[in-house]
Amino acid sequence: MPERLSPQQILNRLVAFPTVSRDSNLDLIAWVEAYLADWGVGSTRVPNADGSKAALYASVGPDAPGGVILSGHSDVVPVDGQDWTTDPWTVVERDGRLIGRGTCDMKGFLALALAAVPCALQAGVKRPLQIAISYDEELGCTGALPMVQAMAAGLPRAAAVVVGEPSMMRLVTGHKGGHSFRVHLRGHEVHSSILHTGVSAIMQGARLITWANRMNAENAARPPGAMAALFDPPWTTVHVGTITGGTAENITARDCSFGLGFRVVPGEDPDTWVSRLRSETAGIMAEMQAVHPACDIRLEPTFFVPPLVPETDGAAEALVRRLTGDNAAGVVSYGTEAGHFQACGYSTVVCGPGDIAQAHQPDEWLSVAQFDAGWQFMQALVKDLCT
Ligand SMILES: [Zn+2]
Repeated sequence: MPERLSPQQILNRLVAFPTVSRDSNLDLIAWVEAYLADWGVGSTRVPNADGSKAALYASVGPDAPGGVILSGHSDVVPVDGQDWTTDPWTVVERDGRLIGRGTCDMKGFLALALAAVPCALQAGVKRPLQIAISYDEELGCTGALPMVQAMAAGLPRAAAVVVGEPSMMRLVTGHKGGHSFRVHLRGHEVHSSILHTGVSAIMQGARLITWANRMNAENAARPPGAMAALFDPPWTTVHVGTITGGTAENITARDCSFGLGFRVVPGEDPDTWVSRLRSETAGIMAEMQAVHPACDIRLEPTFFVPPLVPETDGAAEALVRRLTGDNAAGVVSYGTEAGHFQACGYSTVVCGPGDIAQAHQPDEWLSVAQFDAGWQFMQALVKDLCT
């Protein structure tokens, strides 16, 4: 029998891998692979295009449908420029807190899920405990979709998915979807004294930003649907967070680019918003090209996560209620891979230890009490899988 590691021992190991999103996560994945293999559990890697990162999934117990997927991301946000009082890559326990990068978001949950593996084997679960570890969550959930698709194709269908983003172990049944783009405008450079013969990429870009402002105002003015009413604010928003462009005061800007992102309430289709953006863009581009044919607007997708729509009589919701006794249901403002699982037909909720307020912070921490609550959850889950 291999040595049985405690949840905290596993957490120590996971945090020690500095899996910042821009870097490889393969060392962590190899460690998890070896840990599972020690317990006789096979796992499958889903690598990214250049092979520098991978997602991993595994199934513990019988090769049967009706199991539960525990899903989390392996990547963490950078510590650059943050004022840490401890080494971010070493878990330090202080004042009832486990301090370290990723303890809360969300290696704590992954450690609990991995620690549950020997419990599930020993208990002889009748339905499988399935584990999913993604990458690039912090860069827009880009690593989750191929993993979800591979699991849907490669494993007996699970009855429920629990995504362990920090929710203080409370049941979360919905979140907004996210869809972001980098908008690149190509104008035509002339001296601004002959403005009418040029095309300013900045001034044309401003028209799209004005459109975004108008959408926000119109959405805010409309009475929200039942699903949207759960959220704050209860409408879809469009936001421009960064912008660059132009070279001089007296030259029409040849280039302008900005980041434009939608947060779409469940009940609205993100694709509809993208179509609206595309048709607005097409209209502006046609006018630009009428002045100079080389003008262009390009929309480069940078982030996509579907909304998590609260389910009616969802299996995942029922499971988490059973295990935690939580009879309330909440929604959160952050996006997760839960939207991808649900869009692939899985009943999905979010429930994990820790407070999202601690995520991404210097001296990020997870309370020992939340870690313990998460461990209770895992033990109750293993019992549930035995029935
Ligand atoms: Zn996270």
